[in-house]
Amino acid sequence: MEKNNVAGKDYIIEQLKKQIQNFQTTAQTEKIGTVIEVGDGVAKISGLTDAMASEMLEFPGGVYGVALNLEEGAVGAMILGDYTGIKEGDIVKSTGRILSVPVGEMMIGRVVSPLGVAIDGKGEIVSDTFYPVEKIAPGVITRKSVSVPVQTGIKAIDAVIPVGRGQRELIIGDRQTGKTAVAIDTIINQKGQDLICIYVAIGQKESKVSRIVAELEKNGAMEHTIIVVAGASDPAALSFISPYAGCAMGEYFLDKGKDVLIIYDDLSKHAWAYRQISLILRRPPGREAYPGDIFYLHSRLLERSARLNEDFGGGSITALPIIETQAGDVSAYIPTNVISITDGQIYLETDLFYKGIRPALNVGLSVSRVGSAAQTKAMKKVAGKLRLDLAQFRELEAFAQFGSDLDENTRRQIERGRRTVEILKQDQYEPMPMAQQVAILYALTNGFMDDVVVEKVKVWENDFQKYMKSSGKAVLDMIAEKKELSEEVVASLEKAIKEFKEVYQNGN
Ligand code: ATP
Ligand code: MG
Repeated sequence: MEKNNVAGKDYIIEQLKKQIQNFQTTAQTEKIGTVIEVGDGVAKISGLTDAMASEMLEFPGGVYGVALNLEEGAVGAMILGDYTGIKEGDIVKSTGRILSVPVGEMMIGRVVSPLGVAIDGKGEIVSDTFYPVEKIAPGVITRKSVSVPVQTGIKAIDAVIPVGRGQRELIIGDRQTGKTAVAIDTIINQKGQDLICIYVAIGQKESKVSRIVAELEKNGAMEHTIIVVAGASDPAALSFISPYAGCAMGEYFLDKGKDVLIIYDDLSKHAWAYRQISLILRRPPGREAYPGDIFYLHSRLLERSARLNEDFGGGSITALPIIETQAGDVSAYIPTNVISITDGQIYLETDLFYKGIRPALNVGLSVSRVGSAAQTKAMKKVAGKLRLDLAQFRELEAFAQFGSDLDENTRRQIERGRRTVEILKQDQYEPMPMAQQVAILYALTNGFMDDVVVEKVKVWENDFQKYMKSSGKAVLDMIAEKKELSEEVVASLEKAIKEFKEVYQNGN
């Protein structure tokens, strides 16, 4: 009996041990949380223990948010949409998806919100392809150096500070100096070319954006353009994600091996939106009250512009970020950050703008680190001389007022400089094809305009361009096709210029 009892005990212990060994806990991860605090477009949520950074969260009423702060016990999220209906105690579901936007060819010609929703009243956009808004930039080995130009159609830029495909060129200046105009003219100039344009309007007045859309439509430029709008009255969260969303839409085309141009207008307002969200999320403020990761905010965005080598499709994303300065102060926090990330800047100045030099480009302070690598041979040839003329003129300009005491050579350089400044003036919405730019700059730098009075230079140019488009068309076609100034091209070009001068002089 006793023995049996002992044996029975052992058996039970054995069984228990086995059960304990095989015991498995299945931990339940929570997919649902509760709003514990909400205000100013930001919510604190408890319970979402497995939320990912940048994960989309669903609030009641179909409003979405994005997880930003992952803290112990709570998640800080920004709300992408109307947050007035959200209250404490509301249920929040995590979706398991990183914030992404619809992408595809059907976006071209449309005006969309940063979430890819149509806001132009031209019907819903249906896409089955989604790209994540945040993406790691292409690595070093996938890239290729910049050598193909983005023709802006603006003489001063194409000749003096050329922009190459895959480059990041900053447009910087005070308010109302023509920053947006440079970007819009560049988009218009891509008509009938192979560059897809994306214009991201960040925190701008809706009326301003609708004027831009109308202007692009009028010039037939919407056919190759996507416009992403986070308006001034939209929540800061939308401004914050808009450049990344625009970039994701561009990456779709990059992956297809195409060339894309993206304009971020402007990143100052983008930084403000991020500062606002960060302060409400109680992240520690740093310099100018921006959070510590403000540099990363823009560097991770602009690093996504690249030119890929043939093995990776050969596509490119060129970025033209815009920064607004206060009283020309380029040493403020955000301007210095973005200057250091980009490959050069187009610097626009209020003084020049009011002197009537428009585009108000400060040629001395503007640079392109890619330089003439991104110019056609023809442009390179005329632009080299042009740059020299301009540099000499800047040095001598101060002496210009003592006109009579100057030696012949100096006087000639000053006169050339004055004409150069005139030629580089260009009206808005009038981008000029490369061949025409080369023709006029050739005439200028080779002294064919030295006998034209400065006040008449613009009239002369207008007539010259008209003449070239009609009688000189063969020469223009030759420049456009060969893209270089061979002896043959030079001979025909000079002949055309001389012929025009004769006609012009007889007519006046
Ligand atoms: P904001 O700071 O308000 O964004 P901005 O720097 O983007 O201004 P724009 O809006 O592009 O400047 O231009 C300011 C004004 O100057 C506009 O009225 C525009 O039409 C005019 N303008 C811009 N470029 C030129 C130009 N090349 N020739 C004549 N007018 C121009
Ligand atoms: Mg503007």
